[in-house]
Amino acid sequence: MPLPFECPLCLATQQFQSVVTGHVYGDNSNSRAFFHCNKCDVYYQFPRLTLEDEARFYAAEFEEFMVGRSGASGGWQRADEHLVANESTRKRRMKYLAPFLGNNIDILEIGCSSGFMLYPLMGAGHHCTGVEPSGIFSEFVRSHGICIYQSLEELQTKVPQSKFDLIMHFFVLEHIATPVAFLRTQLELLRPGGCIIFEIPNVADPLNSVYDIPAFERFYWSVAHSWYFSEQSLLFLLAQIGGEYHVIRDQRYDLSNHMIWARDGRPGGLGRFTSKLGNEVEESYKQSLIRSGLCDTLIGVIRKK
Ligand SMILES: [Zn+2]
Repeated sequence: MPLPFECPLCLATQQFQSVVTGHVYGDNSNSRAFFHCNKCDVYYQFPRLTLEDEARFYAAEFEEFMVGRSGASGGWQRADEHLVANESTRKRRMKYLAPFLGNNIDILEIGCSSGFMLYPLMGAGHHCTGVEPSGIFSEFVRSHGICIYQSLEELQTKVPQSKFDLIMHFFVLEHIATPVAFLRTQLELLRPGGCIIFEIPNVADPLNSVYDIPAFERFYWSVAHSWYFSEQSLLFLLAQIGGEYHVIRDQRYDLSNHMIWARDGRPGGLGRFTSKLGNEVEESYKQSLIRSGLCDTLIGVIRKK
């Protein structure tokens, strides 16, 4: 297996790099691994996906999403289902987004999918713009009256004067080969005092760092991800962007989900035992993971001075 020459984030030399796992979910070529940099604490895929690999991967992923649709309106029906399925996710995010919302601000979401985060924000008087590469989703979002672009580049070319008060993205950054450039571009699109807020997986997820479940290890490290961040490596990344920054911790999955992973070695347990355990147990489990830092989600916040 080839070894990385240096850390792709902090450029620490090879002696600081070590293999974490050769199990890369979705890597049919069996030629990749995830490495850890002992200096900045980031985890990264090496060798990296080529742009061609990436294009092939996302085309296949989208096709998978479309499987099961029926009839010509199937895509839109799926987008409607996506809205409903993500309502609890939207509410979870609104808890930490709320303090960053003023009156009638300009919001950009990168990777807005069906637009489920944006419609209630638009309803509350904010001006919303989306970036979404997938055709079905972007048509769906446009039909709801939201300006949408295929990429940040397209937005910058078509509306070069665009400025925003809030730029957000959820589970996008870990897919991006050049996260420093990605975030710096967004900083340029902010008005002074504006914020970038984004969610990524936390590598300290207890399914990964505490319970040592072999099936989870084979599932977790995905070929679609260039990076996995810890709080330490996320803070290192944020320090490169320019702006004030901090990290918020969150926990998406519940005790039921973790129990099903431990028992059956598979996902899908969310809420399974909640009626027996009670909401109080689920909530206190989540809160104690957040307190200890062994939680599954990190939220990066950057404020432009
Ligand atoms: Zn490093």
